[in-house]
Amino acid sequence: MPHHQIDTLWRRVERILPTVTKPGRYVGGELNQVVKPWDSVSTHVALVFPDIYDLGQSNLGMALLYDILNQRSDVAAERAFSPWTDMEAALRSADLPLFSLENKRSLAEFDIVGVSLPYETIYTNFLNILDLGRIPLRNQDRTQAHPLVIAGGQAIFNPEPVAPFVDAFVIGEGEQAILEVVDCFQSWQTSGADREALLVQLAGISGVYVPSLYTVDYLPDGTIQHITAAHPAASLPVNKRIMAELPPAMTRFLVPNVEVAHERVSVEIMRGCTRGCRFCHAGMVNRPIRERPIEDILVSLRYGLDQTGYEEVSLLSLSSSDYSQIVPLIEGLRQLLSERQVNISLPSLRIESFSEELMDVLQSLSPGGGFTLAPEAGTERLRNIINKPLTDEELMETVRAVFRHGWKSLKLYFMIGHPGETLEDVEGIVTLSRAILQEGRRAAGGRARLHVGVSTFIPKPHTPFQWAPFEDPAVIQQKLAILHDGLRGAKIKMTWNDPKASLLEAWLSRGDRRMAEVIFNAWRNGARFDAWSEHFNLDHWQQAFIQSGLDPHFYSKRERSPEEILPWDHINAGVRKTVLLKDYEWSKAGKVRPDCRQTCYACGILSTFGVLRLASPNGGWKCP
Ligand code: SF4
Repeated sequence: MPHHQIDTLWRRVERILPTVTKPGRYVGGELNQVVKPWDSVSTHVALVFPDIYDLGQSNLGMALLYDILNQRSDVAAERAFSPWTDMEAALRSADLPLFSLENKRSLAEFDIVGVSLPYETIYTNFLNILDLGRIPLRNQDRTQAHPLVIAGGQAIFNPEPVAPFVDAFVIGEGEQAILEVVDCFQSWQTSGADREALLVQLAGISGVYVPSLYTVDYLPDGTIQHITAAHPAASLPVNKRIMAELPPAMTRFLVPNVEVAHERVSVEIMRGCTRGCRFCHAGMVNRPIRERPIEDILVSLRYGLDQTGYEEVSLLSLSSSDYSQIVPLIEGLRQLLSERQVNISLPSLRIESFSEELMDVLQSLSPGGGFTLAPEAGTERLRNIINKPLTDEELMETVRAVFRHGWKSLKLYFMIGHPGETLEDVEGIVTLSRAILQEGRRAAGGRARLHVGVSTFIPKPHTPFQWAPFEDPAVIQQKLAILHDGLRGAKIKMTWNDPKASLLEAWLSRGDRRMAEVIFNAWRNGARFDAWSEHFNLDHWQQAFIQSGLDPHFYSKRERSPEEILPWDHINAGVRKTVLLKDYEWSKAGKVRPDCRQTCYACGILSTFGVLRLASPNGGWKCP
């Protein structure tokens, strides 16, 4: 677009900004943002987070890619987020496209649009962004003149529900793959070949899945007959991308100029988890475990604190207390934190793996904060089924230690709707919570506080529970009622997820390629911000199923047979389907699978990635 047109775009946007809430979301200009003169680089990448700035800006994955891409002198990475509903209306009524925060360019002007899809209830926002960015929604309608639309994130380990809208997916870890995608794009651009040639070349990059190179056929009962690679360049299966070692942590932090959801410096201390909780998607798809060295973590936090002035640091991982050097790490943080009066948040502590020693150092660093534990189920029996083995006595022992170390406030996470759960298991949550509050009262008297958070189990792809049905919503309501009644009057605060929102997540995460029609229709019916309770409307979706001629129960209600080809079977997330199936059978027998750091059960990581590990100069990760 010539310069005068950009000026016109921005001048017109400036006229509508005073009419919308938090205009700071749309102006960029933050400390450490990277603005390169548009004509100074050959490749322009728009990094899109399909939710509002306030949420997307603190997304670590997006920040990492922004940093990595902008380190290249031939690439400019710019950001775009979903406009809030008032801004969307203002853009549409002024006939303005969605634009990037840095150079204020319409999304359609970029070479590559990279979309982050961390959860499924963001899919309608993704379509909305393409529409507002004036990019054809379906990959088949895009031409040489349109950007290449790529997507990554945790949700797209089942890429099929959004396959028709994406040109290429990066399955797994994006830090290296994104650079290879850019290289591939550049060499295609100089070759002058057609768009099809670009897609074929992209399919040659490890971890990249190009959906248009595959066909899916269905049986009369609606299940999948085959998934076929329709081009010699399309591999079957598509292996996820991993790195043998984590790259150095980020040292350049962007400082938002409006209030955002998480005002803290976050660093990922470890990737992957070997515990094998059967409901846990992240635990299954992010193997193997790779730890980041302490020194690297401390350097990143020091930069982050100095640049942002935030008063909290967060150490991210799926199971922080499993980080082998957790106590030395927190000791190492002591000086950094105390000289700056900064708090630490350490989400995802495992009940079995944190020691009194860890409690001592944590309490001395952040006295007064709350403590969070996730037993996930109310009885020992059910905890064995979900492979989170823990006796009631072990749990109570930990709780006593938490209160003894001076914490007054405890949060417990539970899930309802697990496969094999009975009403007695749900009553077990009540009994356990009341007993835990009693312990708290014994130690801290009336100041003891207990908060119980309840979510609904969703059978996720690539987990041992991928064959299980989603619980009947009427039964979920019944179980919630048991919890409400049981905890009432006990001075226990209870929060819970809307089971209808979980039902939507179940449809979307378990869908096949035909689900794309449902997403499209729901978006046309007005679905936006489905992850926001004030915007979520199940009617848009029920209507969309009717419009698409599909039965929602087919996706959520039935137990899938072991023989069925699952919509995501052609994606290899690392753990073999046979291993998952055996684990599902074990769960039905109440049999526990120990943490594989004790006994390796050859889950599939080494057969897929053994060569990568051998090639790694420092030996990669620690599977036997
Ligand atoms: S290969 Fe063995 S040790 Fe490594 S993640 Fe799989 S089961 Fe665990």
